[in-house]
Order: sequence, then C-alpha cells, then structure tokens
Amino acid sequence: MASLEIGIVPCLSDNYAYLIHDAAAGLTAIVDPSEPEPVKRALEARGYKLTHILNTHHHFDHTGGNLPLKEAYGAEVVGPGKDRDRIPGIDTGVEEGKPWRFGNHTVEILEVPAHTRGAITFVMDGAAFTGDTLFAMGCGRLFEGNPQMMWTSLSKLAKLPDDTKIYCGHEYTLSNGRFALTLEPNNADLKRRFADVETARAKGQPTVPSTIGIEKKTNPFLRPNSPELRKSLGMEKASDVDVFGETRKRKDNF
Ligand SMILES: [Zn+2]
Ligand SMILES: [Zn+2]
Repeated sequence: MASLEIGIVPCLSDNYAYLIHDAAAGLTAIVDPSEPEPVKRALEARGYKLTHILNTHHHFDHTGGNLPLKEAYGAEVVGPGKDRDRIPGIDTGVEEGKPWRFGNHTVEILEVPAHTRGAITFVMDGAAFTGDTLFAMGCGRLFEGNPQMMWTSLSKLAKLPDDTKIYCGHEYTLSNGRFALTLEPNNADLKRRFADVETARAKGQPTVPSTIGIEKKTNPFLRPNSPELRKSLGMEKASDVDVFGETRKRKDNF
C-alpha cells in the first residue's frame, strides 16, 4: 500500500496543523486546523482538495478552521465521539477500539483524556497525531483531568512502536527542552537533542515529527522512572504517577 504523504501547516503563532494526502484514494485530510487561510494556501500549492477534517480535541486553536473549511470544500469533520457537543461541525464521532477508515488505511483511535476529557490521538501508517496530549519533550496541561488520568494516557502512547512518528499540536520544543534539562542535566540523549532543537529553531525549522522512541529517552513526562529525574525532585521512592504529577506541577510554574 502506498504510504501517506504528510505536510506541516504552521498556524497562528505556534500551532501545527497537518495535511495528510492519500494519492491512491484521492483523499486529503487536515488535522487540527486552527484557522482556514494557511490550510487553503497549503492545499492550493499542492493542488489538493480537502476531503476530511480531523480534530484531536475541542480547543479553538485546533478547531477554528472547521466550519469555514467545511463550507469551502464540503469536507467531513471527524473528531472524538465522546466530545461531539464541543467539536464544531462534527459529522463522524470516533472511539477507541473502533478503527476508522481513511481510504485504504486503517486509523487507530486512542482515547487519551486529561488535557481535555475527550482528547484522542489518531494513529495511521506509523504516524501518531497527538494534539496537546504528548508534545516533543513535553505534555499538555491538565485542564480536564488529573495526573493519574494523564499518566494513563501517556502510558498508552508510550506503548506505540518506537519508530512511530509523533506529530504534536504546538512548537513548544525549545522551552520544553529547557525545562527537561533542569531535571536531567546529565541525560546525554537529552543534551544532544536539545542542541539539535536549538539549531533547528535558529533556522526557523519545525522540530516535528519526533518518534516515540526519542520521546521515551528525552521527555521528562515519560520518564518518571529515571533515577536522575527522581533525585532532582527528591522523590526517589515515590510512585510513577506521583513523580509525573510533580513534574507537571513544576512545568506549570517554570
Ligand atoms: Zn488544547
Ligand atoms: Zn493547542
């Protein structure tokens, strides 16, 4: 099966929407369109017609383009079935355990609540669209959930194959990396990655996608079992979820 072509569409100040094109089926989706204009320009530049709008969660910086794009292209809006009421223009609600089809591709839905109650991740063709749940070296704020809920959600994502590409909702990587280094200043993988991220950002390049394998080595929110991180927090004997919760609290105040 031909693989999907994925394009990054920067929106607003630091959001990323993603174009997914299935050439064989003639389908094009946009993940989390913050606003319509950059998406329209990206479609025109490639000569694609939008057929689907996929939303990871209801926040306006991920759904602001739904209605204008649906009106312009007649695209089908697909989002979390458990949050139907808050997804503008939703046509199809999806749930974990019931894969959705995009052309000939099977799309796995993972329910990953905590940033919002209805947050989902779309997994297809070795790529995961994680919205504001898992960021490069970071995780989303707990607006509608507690540390246990987010730790369960992140643990679900951590079980994806290591080479799964992670496409997240925002370019927060530089500040996430600065925070990560405060907890694991001797993590060699983290130091190397941070240097690469600094170089990329200095050139204005995006730092996505990463992979779940890289995240597991460098993302403090996936590393509550790291001895160095635990020592930095003074929590050598605490549970993983408590270490995760403290890490999240420190990031809120960073
Ligand atoms: Zn959000
Ligand atoms: Zn967001």
